[in-house]
Amino acid sequence: MTGDAVVLDGVSRTYPGGVAALREVSLRVGYGELVAIVGPSGSGKSTMLHLIGTLDRPSAGRVRIDGYDVATLPDRQLSALRARRIGFVFQQFHLAAGTPVVDNVADGLLYAGVPRRERRRRAEAALDRVGLGHRLTHRPHELSGGERQRVAVARAVVGEPAVLLADEPTGNLDSVAGAAVLALLRDLHAAGTTVLVITHDREIAAGLPRQVRMRDGRVVADPATGPAAGPFVEEVR
Ligand code: ADP
Repeated sequence: MTGDAVVLDGVSRTYPGGVAALREVSLRVGYGELVAIVGPSGSGKSTMLHLIGTLDRPSAGRVRIDGYDVATLPDRQLSALRARRIGFVFQQFHLAAGTPVVDNVADGLLYAGVPRRERRRRAEAALDRVGLGHRLTHRPHELSGGERQRVAVARAVVGEPAVLLADEPTGNLDSVAGAAVLALLRDLHAAGTTVLVITHDREIAAGLPRQVRMRDGRVVADPATGPAAGPFVEEVR
Protein backbone atom coordinates (compact mmCIF):
# COMPACT_ATOMS: atom_id res chain seq x y z
CA MET A 1 0.00 0.00 0.00
CA THR A 2 1.44 3.37 -0.94
CA GLY A 3 0.65 6.77 0.51
CA ASP A 4 -0.90 7.40 3.90
CA ALA A 5 -4.05 6.06 5.49
CA VAL A 6 -5.00 9.52 6.78
CA VAL A 7 -3.93 12.94 5.57
CA LEU A 8 -5.34 16.16 7.03
CA ASP A 9 -4.02 19.24 5.34
CA GLY A 10 -4.80 22.60 6.97
CA VAL A 11 -8.15 21.33 8.20
CA SER A 12 -10.50 23.62 10.10
CA ARG A 13 -13.99 22.96 11.39
CA THR A 14 -16.17 25.75 12.65
CA TYR A 15 -19.57 24.73 13.99
CA PRO A 16 -22.67 26.80 13.37
CA GLY A 17 -22.64 29.48 16.02
CA GLY A 18 -18.97 30.12 15.42
CA VAL A 19 -17.16 27.57 17.61
CA ALA A 20 -13.80 26.96 15.93
CA ALA A 21 -13.37 23.34 17.02
CA LEU A 22 -10.41 22.66 14.72
CA ARG A 23 -7.93 25.24 13.47
CA GLU A 24 -5.72 24.41 10.52
CA VAL A 25 -4.79 20.94 11.63
CA SER A 26 -2.35 18.95 9.54
CA LEU A 27 -1.74 15.30 10.31
CA ARG A 28 -0.43 12.27 8.46
CA VAL A 29 -0.96 8.73 9.62
CA GLY A 30 0.71 5.94 7.67
CA TYR A 31 -0.83 2.54 7.05
CA GLY A 32 -0.27 0.28 10.02
CA GLU A 33 0.34 3.02 12.59
CA LEU A 34 -1.14 3.04 16.09
CA VAL A 35 -1.75 6.63 17.19
CA ALA A 36 -3.12 8.03 20.45
CA ILE A 37 -4.94 11.36 20.27
CA VAL A 38 -4.78 13.10 23.61
CA GLY A 39 -5.68 16.49 25.04
CA PRO A 40 -8.14 18.15 27.39
CA SER A 41 -11.88 18.00 26.95
CA GLY A 42 -13.05 20.40 24.26
CA SER A 43 -9.68 20.45 22.45
CA GLY A 44 -11.17 19.09 19.22
CA LYS A 45 -10.30 15.39 19.43
CA SER A 46 -13.78 14.06 18.58
CA THR A 47 -14.25 16.68 15.89
CA MET A 48 -11.02 15.51 14.26
CA LEU A 49 -12.00 11.86 14.55
CA HIS A 50 -15.39 12.59 12.98
CA LEU A 51 -13.70 14.31 10.05
CA ILE A 52 -11.29 11.38 9.62
CA GLY A 53 -14.29 9.06 9.79
CA THR A 54 -16.02 11.09 7.06
CA LEU A 55 -18.97 11.63 9.39
CA ASP A 56 -18.45 15.35 8.93
CA ARG A 57 -16.87 17.61 6.34
CA PRO A 58 -14.29 20.30 7.05
CA SER A 59 -15.02 24.03 6.82
CA ALA A 60 -11.61 24.44 5.20
CA GLY A 61 -8.64 22.28 4.26
CA ARG A 62 -8.30 18.85 2.73
CA VAL A 63 -9.10 15.41 4.15
CA ARG A 64 -7.69 12.33 2.40
CA ILE A 65 -8.64 8.90 3.71
CA ASP A 66 -7.23 5.71 2.22
CA GLY A 67 -6.18 7.72 -0.83
CA TYR A 68 -9.56 9.39 -1.42
CA ASP A 69 -10.02 13.13 -1.27
CA VAL A 70 -13.21 13.31 0.77
CA ALA A 71 -14.33 16.65 -0.72
CA THR A 72 -14.44 15.21 -4.24
CA LEU A 73 -16.58 12.18 -3.38
CA PRO A 74 -20.33 12.33 -3.92
CA ASP A 75 -22.38 11.29 -0.88
CA ARG A 76 -22.91 7.73 -2.12
CA GLN A 77 -19.23 7.09 -2.61
CA LEU A 78 -18.47 8.74 0.71
CA SER A 79 -20.91 6.34 2.41
CA ALA A 80 -19.26 3.43 0.62
CA LEU A 81 -15.81 4.57 1.73
CA ARG A 82 -17.07 4.85 5.31
CA ALA A 83 -18.79 1.47 5.25
CA ARG A 84 -15.96 -0.46 3.67
CA ARG A 85 -12.76 1.24 4.74
CA ILE A 86 -13.41 2.76 8.18
CA GLY A 87 -14.29 1.03 11.45
CA PHE A 88 -15.65 2.86 14.47
CA VAL A 89 -15.59 2.10 18.19
CA PHE A 90 -17.30 4.47 20.61
CA GLN A 91 -17.24 4.85 24.38
CA GLN A 92 -20.92 3.82 24.58
CA PHE A 93 -20.48 0.57 22.58
CA HIS A 94 -23.56 1.28 20.38
CA LEU A 95 -24.63 -2.36 20.06
CA ALA A 96 -28.17 -3.26 19.04
CA ALA A 97 -30.01 -4.25 22.23
CA GLY A 98 -31.69 -7.65 22.21
CA THR A 99 -29.74 -8.72 19.12
CA PRO A 100 -27.38 -11.69 19.41
CA VAL A 101 -23.73 -10.75 19.45
CA VAL A 102 -22.97 -12.58 16.20
CA ASP A 103 -25.66 -10.60 14.38
CA ASN A 104 -24.43 -7.34 15.87
CA VAL A 105 -21.04 -8.09 14.34
CA ALA A 106 -22.39 -9.48 11.06
CA ASP A 107 -24.41 -6.29 10.58
CA GLY A 108 -21.09 -4.47 10.30
CA LEU A 109 -20.94 -6.01 6.81
CA LEU A 110 -24.48 -5.12 5.72
CA TYR A 111 -23.42 -2.18 3.61
CA ALA A 112 -20.38 -3.89 2.15
CA GLY A 113 -22.45 -6.16 -0.07
CA VAL A 114 -21.39 -9.41 1.62
CA PRO A 115 -23.86 -12.33 1.34
CA ARG A 116 -25.62 -13.34 4.56
CA ARG A 117 -23.90 -16.66 5.14
CA GLU A 118 -20.49 -15.11 4.55
CA ARG A 119 -21.37 -12.27 6.93
CA ARG A 120 -22.09 -14.81 9.63
CA ARG A 121 -18.89 -16.76 8.99
CA ARG A 122 -16.80 -13.63 9.14
CA ALA A 123 -18.61 -12.40 12.25
CA GLU A 124 -17.80 -15.65 14.02
CA ALA A 125 -14.15 -15.32 13.03
CA ALA A 126 -14.04 -11.72 14.26
CA LEU A 127 -15.59 -12.72 17.59
CA ASP A 128 -13.05 -15.52 17.91
CA ARG A 129 -10.36 -12.98 17.35
CA VAL A 130 -11.56 -10.83 20.27
CA GLY A 131 -11.89 -13.87 22.51
CA LEU A 132 -15.69 -14.11 22.39
CA GLY A 133 -16.14 -17.11 20.12
CA HIS A 134 -18.07 -18.76 22.98
CA ARG A 135 -20.61 -15.94 23.29
CA LEU A 136 -22.12 -15.84 19.81
CA THR A 137 -25.77 -16.02 20.83
CA HIS A 138 -25.56 -13.87 23.95
CA ARG A 139 -27.39 -10.56 23.91
CA PRO A 140 -25.39 -7.42 24.76
CA HIS A 141 -27.11 -7.06 28.17
CA GLU A 142 -25.83 -10.53 29.08
CA LEU A 143 -22.23 -9.39 28.68
CA SER A 144 -19.89 -7.33 30.85
CA GLY A 145 -18.91 -3.84 29.70
CA GLY A 146 -15.50 -5.08 28.61
CA GLU A 147 -17.06 -7.91 26.61
CA ARG A 148 -19.49 -5.50 24.98
CA GLN A 149 -16.65 -3.29 23.90
CA ARG A 150 -14.82 -6.31 22.49
CA VAL A 151 -17.96 -7.07 20.46
CA ALA A 152 -17.92 -3.47 19.23
CA VAL A 153 -14.29 -3.89 18.20
CA ALA A 154 -15.16 -7.13 16.38
CA ARG A 155 -17.94 -5.31 14.53
CA ALA A 156 -15.58 -2.48 13.64
CA VAL A 157 -12.94 -4.77 12.15
CA VAL A 158 -15.09 -7.50 10.59
CA GLY A 159 -14.92 -5.71 7.23
CA GLU A 160 -11.13 -5.35 7.53
CA PRO A 161 -11.15 -1.56 7.37
CA ALA A 162 -8.12 0.45 6.35
CA VAL A 163 -8.55 2.60 9.45
CA LEU A 164 -9.98 1.81 12.88
CA LEU A 165 -11.15 4.87 14.84
CA ALA A 166 -11.80 4.54 18.55
CA ASP A 167 -13.25 7.43 20.58
CA GLU A 168 -12.53 6.83 24.29
CA PRO A 169 -13.03 3.07 23.95
CA THR A 170 -12.03 2.44 27.57
CA GLY A 171 -13.92 5.41 29.02
CA ASN A 172 -16.77 3.29 30.40
CA LEU A 173 -14.65 0.36 31.55
CA ASP A 174 -12.81 -0.53 34.73
CA SER A 175 -9.04 -0.68 34.44
CA VAL A 176 -8.87 -4.45 33.88
CA ALA A 177 -11.48 -4.45 31.11
CA GLY A 178 -9.92 -1.31 29.66
CA ALA A 179 -6.53 -2.99 29.54
CA ALA A 180 -8.07 -5.95 27.69
CA VAL A 181 -9.59 -3.66 25.07
CA LEU A 182 -6.30 -1.86 24.69
CA ALA A 183 -4.48 -5.17 24.29
CA LEU A 184 -6.93 -5.97 21.54
CA LEU A 185 -6.17 -2.71 19.73
CA ARG A 186 -2.49 -3.53 20.01
CA ASP A 187 -3.08 -6.99 18.56
CA LEU A 188 -4.95 -5.47 15.63
CA HIS A 189 -2.13 -3.00 15.12
CA ALA A 190 0.41 -5.84 15.23
CA ALA A 191 -1.62 -7.61 12.55
CA GLY A 192 -1.41 -4.52 10.34
CA THR A 193 -4.54 -2.47 11.09
CA THR A 194 -4.19 1.31 11.24
CA VAL A 195 -5.60 2.46 14.59
CA LEU A 196 -6.35 5.95 15.90
CA VAL A 197 -7.55 6.07 19.48
CA ILE A 198 -8.73 9.04 21.51
CA THR A 199 -7.97 8.55 25.15
CA HIS A 200 -8.03 10.54 28.36
CA ASP A 201 -6.10 7.81 30.08
CA ARG A 202 -2.52 8.91 30.48
CA GLU A 203 -1.25 5.41 31.15
CA ILE A 204 -2.85 4.11 27.99
CA ALA A 205 -1.53 6.99 25.93
CA ALA A 206 1.96 6.65 27.38
CA GLY A 207 2.11 3.04 26.23
CA LEU A 208 1.33 3.85 22.59
CA PRO A 209 4.00 4.49 19.99
CA ARG A 210 2.79 7.91 18.80
CA GLN A 211 0.86 10.49 20.80
CA VAL A 212 -0.73 13.41 18.99
CA ARG A 213 -1.53 16.07 21.56
CA MET A 214 -4.30 18.59 20.95
CA ARG A 215 -5.25 21.85 22.57
CA ASP A 216 -7.73 24.55 21.52
CA GLY A 217 -8.39 22.95 18.16
CA ARG A 218 -4.76 22.56 17.21
CA VAL A 219 -2.17 19.80 17.23
CA VAL A 220 0.37 21.06 19.75
CA ALA A 221 2.68 18.06 19.78
CA ASP A 222 3.25 15.16 17.43
CA PRO A 223 6.45 13.10 17.45
CA ALA A 224 6.05 12.62 13.70
CA THR A 225 6.54 16.34 13.05
CA GLY A 226 8.15 17.54 16.28
CA PRO A 227 6.44 19.91 18.69
CA ALA A 228 4.57 22.83 17.18
CA ALA A 229 6.12 26.27 17.51
CA GLY A 230 5.32 28.22 20.64
CA PRO A 231 5.31 27.39 24.33
CA PHE A 232 3.84 24.05 25.25
CA VAL A 233 2.75 23.41 28.79
CA GLU A 234 1.77 19.92 29.85
CA GLU A 235 -1.80 20.05 31.11
CA VAL A 236 -2.58 18.87 34.60
CA ARG A 237 -5.68 16.72 34.93
P1 ADP B 1 -12.97 16.85 22.55
O1 ADP B 1 -13.32 15.62 21.79
O2 ADP B 1 -11.50 17.12 22.61
O3 ADP B 1 -13.59 16.90 23.90
P2 ADP B 1 -14.74 18.17 20.68
O4 ADP B 1 -14.20 17.93 19.33
O5 ADP B 1 -15.88 17.32 21.12
O6 ADP B 1 -13.54 18.11 21.74
O7 ADP B 1 -15.21 19.68 20.80
C1 ADP B 1 -14.40 20.78 20.39
C2 ADP B 1 -15.18 22.07 20.58
O8 ADP B 1 -16.27 22.11 19.66
C3 ADP B 1 -15.80 22.22 21.95
O9 ADP B 1 -15.74 23.59 22.29
C4 ADP B 1 -17.22 21.77 21.75
O10 ADP B 1 -18.08 22.40 22.67
C5 ADP B 1 -17.50 22.22 20.34
N1 ADP B 1 -18.47 21.35 19.64
C6 ADP B 1 -18.37 20.00 19.46
N2 ADP B 1 -19.40 19.53 18.73
C7 ADP B 1 -20.18 20.61 18.43
C8 ADP B 1 -21.40 20.78 17.69
N3 ADP B 1 -22.01 19.75 17.09
N4 ADP B 1 -21.91 22.04 17.59
C9 ADP B 1 -21.27 23.10 18.16
N5 ADP B 1 -20.14 23.00 18.86
C10 ADP B 1 -19.57 21.77 19.01
